[in-house]
Amino acid sequence: MQVSARDGGVRAYGRKSPSRAAAAVVGVALVVLAAAAAGLACAKDDTAFRYRTYAEIVQTLRNTSAANLAILKLDDAQSRFRIGTAGQCEEFVGSSFSDGVTEPVECKQYYVTLTNHATWSQDKTRPQMLISGELHGNERVGPHVSVELILMMVKMYALGEGEDSTEVSRWIRYLIDHRVLVIMPMANAVGFEMNHREEVQDNGHSFDPNRDFPFNQKTSACMQTFAARAINELFRAHMFQLMITFHGGTNVIGYEWGDYGHCSETGACEMAPDHALMDAIGARMKQTAGPAGTYEREYTLGSMGSTVYPVNGGMEDWAYGASWTGDEIQCNPVESSSTYAPKKTARDPALHRCVTYLVETGDQKIPDEGSLGTADAILVKGGTGDGHIPRNIRLSIAALDALQPYARVVGSNMEEMLNGRAAKFTLRIVPGGLFTLDAAYLQWSTTKSAKMVQSGATDVLYSDERLQFVGSDGSVFPQRVLEFDFFAPLPLDSPIYFRAVVLADSKLVSNDSQSHLAGARSKEDWSFSANSFAVHSSAAFVSATHMISFTSSGAYLMEQVASDPGWGFDGDLYANDPSGGAGNGARWAGVDKAEGNDDEEEGDLAGTSDPMKSMTHPQLLKLFGIIFGCIAAAALIVVGLIWVLRTLRKRAAAARGGDRAQEMETLSAWEWSEGSSENEEV
Ligand SMILES: [Zn+2]
Repeated sequence: MQVSARDGGVRAYGRKSPSRAAAAVVGVALVVLAAAAAGLACAKDDTAFRYRTYAEIVQTLRNTSAANLAILKLDDAQSRFRIGTAGQCEEFVGSSFSDGVTEPVECKQYYVTLTNHATWSQDKTRPQMLISGELHGNERVGPHVSVELILMMVKMYALGEGEDSTEVSRWIRYLIDHRVLVIMPMANAVGFEMNHREEVQDNGHSFDPNRDFPFNQKTSACMQTFAARAINELFRAHMFQLMITFHGGTNVIGYEWGDYGHCSETGACEMAPDHALMDAIGARMKQTAGPAGTYEREYTLGSMGSTVYPVNGGMEDWAYGASWTGDEIQCNPVESSSTYAPKKTARDPALHRCVTYLVETGDQKIPDEGSLGTADAILVKGGTGDGHIPRNIRLSIAALDALQPYARVVGSNMEEMLNGRAAKFTLRIVPGGLFTLDAAYLQWSTTKSAKMVQSGATDVLYSDERLQFVGSDGSVFPQRVLEFDFFAPLPLDSPIYFRAVVLADSKLVSNDSQSHLAGARSKEDWSFSANSFAVHSSAAFVSATHMISFTSSGAYLMEQVASDPGWGFDGDLYANDPSGGAGNGARWAGVDKAEGNDDEEEGDLAGTSDPMKSMTHPQLLKLFGIIFGCIAAAALIVVGLIWVLRTLRKRAAAARGGDRAQEMETLSAWEWSEGSSENEEV
């Protein structure tokens, strides 16, 4: 009854009220659509970039650093360097967003140091980069690029580890592990707070921070601002190789020169000695950035003097040239609200060789908030929500990547081999931080502490290849994957240690280079140290050492291992180029072991007189070619001889046959007449 009644009820409803049913369906659909739209709107709101106040930026830095202490250290120039302050800024009371109440405190120049801090203490040559979000307080894009870059980096670092990691997140994690990125979002803190170009000091004086550096400037007219002092102190405490300084008002990526000492009034500038590398990095930054969505066209690239205008006392020329060109200037800023010791601007031979990019983020110093973009696809050029912030995050990452050439071991084809889909063992290497790949190869050993240069190497890839950084789909990361095949049988149950070696960018540096960025990738002896940091030249760049081990049961393991001092090169990497021949065995040392020739292993690693082991892959191929050729030639000769002999025999037989016919007649005649024993031959 109950079932029947319900059934009837439904039927009655269906029969008597079709319009109500339709209305209900439409209503439900509308609710669903509205909810979806609301969800989309919320999602969009969650990822859309927006302008923040000084207090909001400071609080965001505090919270983000507190949650990511291993990689993000927050400091301020006032606490660290005791430089005093220009004025008052609002900060949240109790250092919390939740109260929403601010109070005036002294303006501070906060900065973060983004790197793997645990390993940095053991790695004092890790290359360092500085980003200044602004020197002019009313140029608002740069500070927000700085903050959103920090947020993206820490997020990517966490994503870059574990099974859910992606190619991009693993790469970003690598960059944080292998670079030091110092970011000061608001160097002109009081200017940002007031949304004012210059730094207004509490004595009523106002100065332009980007005319305030000791380069082509009067001693009384530099280090007047706390903005310039904060940057100067960062330089005194680090050893920066590359800097981006954000501004706004035009749409330019500019590099040195930009001062009246090197440029004319009309903006015709001398070419800097590091021009080739500067231009290559700038071109990649420009390409990686692209347009700011539909809001701003692609950047113009060139010298600052020609694309913007020349200045005196600019931060960029000072950062790049104050160690080695122009007059030493020790500042004595008498009009500033506080004094600054002249010795703090004494010339240092190591600290001002920093290639610097002036990024003018667009014609509008404060573009519409809607043009800032979203966090949906920051590292995809032209991707969803592209705008001012995504494109400048991308160019910052491109510069960070370019700090130093490297090779990353990203995988192998072992799965395919174990499944029988591949015959050769292949290792995959991604070269990065470089522009032109000159050569690459793998070094390997069967012992972790082996003398790498004497163990073995793969075939060398020689190249003049210009590496791509932006994929056809807009993806931003080093695009090239190198594959190295091992032709020899793989040893079982015995680990192999290997690392990749890349040689790069030889055409972008010269003996005239003055920057650490160029000197560090030069063959020449470039060596500077300061503040316990150092920059040394290197003709080749090696990956982390990896170990791979596979067993007869089919299991395998590949992992990064701690580098051992024994893996060091002996200085001249070109001498170790395996194509040079001697000392680089092309076979796996473990093959001998697998074959039971244990005695030979030691000799193999130490370098041996066995000619097979002192040959490279191409040489071995040549040898095999010669052997094969000899065998083939011998076979041809044998076949030919057989053919010749058989032909001769046939001809002889044919000749005998002809004679025989005649003979037969003769013989027959003779036989008939006389008889003969020769008939037996027929
Ligand atoms: Zn500016």
